[in-house]
Amino acid sequence: MRTCWINGQFVPESDAKVSIFDRGVLFGDGVYEVAAVFNGRLLDADLHLARLVKSQAAIGLPAPLDTAAWLDVMQEVATANGIVEGLVYLQVTRGAAERDFPFPAQVSPTAFAWARPKRLSDDPNAVGVRVHAVPDIRWGRCDIKSTSMLAQVLAKNAARQAGAFEALMHEDGVVTEGGSSTLWMVKGGALFTRPLSSDILAGITRDVTLELAAELSIPVREEAFTVAQAIAADELFLTSATSFVLPITQVDDAQVAGRLVGPITTSLRNAYLARAERLTAAIV
Ligand code: PMP
Repeated sequence: MRTCWINGQFVPESDAKVSIFDRGVLFGDGVYEVAAVFNGRLLDADLHLARLVKSQAAIGLPAPLDTAAWLDVMQEVATANGIVEGLVYLQVTRGAAERDFPFPAQVSPTAFAWARPKRLSDDPNAVGVRVHAVPDIRWGRCDIKSTSMLAQVLAKNAARQAGAFEALMHEDGVVTEGGSSTLWMVKGGALFTRPLSSDILAGITRDVTLELAAELSIPVREEAFTVAQAIAADELFLTSATSFVLPITQVDDAQVAGRLVGPITTSLRNAYLARAERLTAAIV
């Protein structure tokens, strides 16, 4: 059985419980983070925790733990479960209180974390995945990493039912992002991704990919693109903390670039893996 962490304690997963009055349960009133574990070590957890601080501030949620304490909890929960490649999930909610929409007078946040294994270096999806286009029906603050995610649950469920790996969300034909990923296309040698705004989450992997693109001298244009442009792209891919850089070879029934994985996607994925190796290499 897994060991999880909740409100200061490591416990077996069967003892990791929250109240039915928890505002995370009642309202989705909480924020979360997901960071990769590579070579048994956290990858970019500091960047994810910096975003957690922003998400907490954006919803006026007092931080139950500081960054140093979270880093210890996250590493411990990965190590306790023997995770070599996988992810750590953490969530903070506005805690349990009598059900009333405004914030309670006294907030005692609920915080928990768990880990699970996932193939990252040899992800079977790295051969290319299919995405399913759906209208983006989310709210106006998609930049907050909130646990209120019914729209993404519906989008990703529709994708799975359509036999796709991920949802490609769009507003009137203009791509916003994946159900839980950032979308990118390559056209004429340049890399395109939507500029940051309240329409999308500021992906940590997006930031890292932009850095890698600069190192590889790949020109970048932070501009929105349409579903039609995505289908006609030279290359299409997604990024996220636990998918790294993953080629997209099909949008619904339309093939992208003859379903071949392109050279820029391949070099970015390789650069991402090399960086992950470098950052997590065991110090002996
Ligand atoms: N967009 C959305 C909506 C997401 O849920 C995620 C994953 N949490 C991302 C983008 C990618 O973010 P990151 O690279 O930080 O995992």
